[in-house]
Order: sequence, then structure tokens, then C-alpha cells
Amino acid sequence: MKLGGRALKLFLGVAIVAFGVIRYCGSQEENPYTGRTQAISLSTEEEIAIGLQNAPIMAEQHGGLYPDQRLQDQIDAVGKKLVDNTIAQETPYQYEFHLLSDPNTVNAFALPGGQIFITYALYKRLSSEDQLAGILGHEIGHVVGRHSAERIAQSELANTVATGAQVGADAGMLASQLGQTILLKNGRGDELESDDLGVKFMIEAGYDPEALIEVMQILKEASGGQRVPEFQSSHPDPDNRIDKIRAAMDKYRT
Ligand SMILES: [Zn+2]
Repeated sequence: MKLGGRALKLFLGVAIVAFGVIRYCGSQEENPYTGRTQAISLSTEEEIAIGLQNAPIMAEQHGGLYPDQRLQDQIDAVGKKLVDNTIAQETPYQYEFHLLSDPNTVNAFALPGGQIFITYALYKRLSSEDQLAGILGHEIGHVVGRHSAERIAQSELANTVATGAQVGADAGMLASQLGQTILLKNGRGDELESDDLGVKFMIEAGYDPEALIEVMQILKEASGGQRVPEFQSSHPDPDNRIDKIRAAMDKYRT
């Protein structure tokens, strides 16, 4: 009887994992703006709502909005130029760009649905509008690439797999390792896809994509020993990232 109980548990565990995988695979769709197939469990309306809901919270965590409206206007203008001249304009997302007061954390990030942020600590290190365009273009890439929504679908899968692992014990181990591998690989892919799209958007909007490589160097210098910001939490090493940016420059600069 004891053996039978174990077999049943294992069966249930595998069934739960299989359910999660089937649901995840069933949510695969092609992103019309990148052409890449990805698992998504949120509608674009839900993405926009999540972004709008969380934007004030993110701002508050970084000391609120930067008080100088002239700088905010400049960021809005560069962001608008990038959106108006690229496929970003055809997406249902509402792009808004926010300069945050935070003078210490060198960072930029995007919420799903189009809310995009750059800290003053990063902004003040920039020496050209092209560099700013590089950062905003990369962040628009995260939105168009639907990376947050993809991560949410992945964490739903990971949760289901973890439940399966608890129930089924043995079989679950393998499944949860598999889940971890998928998550890591995608983290890296997000940054590379955003760099690639960033280069494309810069060229289309009339900016010099070389400036994105300068941004990589600025981030590298700024990171010395500090907490690693989103922009380079990316795991691909910076040199590899620069190689990929150069490849994108060749690809889009025909
Ligand atoms: Zn990024």
C-alpha cells in the first residue's frame, strides 16, 4: 500500500506539471511587432492597466518625479520621436516617459504597457541626445517585446511546476530544474532583444546607434561595486552585448 501511495503521488505530481506545461504552451502567440512566438497570459489592456497602476509606486520608490520640467520635456520629445517613427506607434500601448529624482541609482526600466522610467542618476551621466535615445529605445523594446507579460506567464508555469514538485517529490525535481533553465535563458534574451530593437528604433528615428554602445560603457563605469540595475542585470556580459549591438547595426543599416 505504501508503494501504491507513492506512485499515486508521483502520478499527481507529473499530472500537475503536465497541466502547467500544456497551459503554458497553449498560451503561445506570435508577437506581431517582433515576429517572435512567446507565451503570454495577459491581454494588452491588462498590461496597460498593470503599468498605469504601478507607475506611481515606482516613482515613489525613486524619490518621485524630477522637479525640472525642462528636462522632462526633453525626455518626452526624444521618447515621442522614437515612438512616432517606429513600429511602437502601431502597438496599442500608451507610451509615457518619466524622469525620476533618484540621484544615486543609475537605472532605467519599463513597466508593461508603455510606462518608461529613467533616474536622474543615469540621466546626468549622459552627454548626448543620442545616448538618451539609446536608453529609451531599449526600454520601448521591452514594452514592444512584451517581456513583462512573458515573465508573468513563465512565473505562472514555475508556480505550477513547484506545486507539482511538492506533490510528486522525485519527478518534480527534474521539472523545476527545467523551469529554472527556461527562466534564466529568457532573462538574457530579453536584454538582447531590447538592445536589438533599440538599435532599430534609433536608426528609424534618425539617431546614431553607436550611442547605445557608449551607454553600455557609461553603465559599466557606473556599476563599480554597486547594486546591479535592471539595465545590466541582464546577465549577458557587456562585451557580448556590444557585439550583438554591432550586429544589429549592420542588420538594420542597409
Ligand atoms: Zn533592459
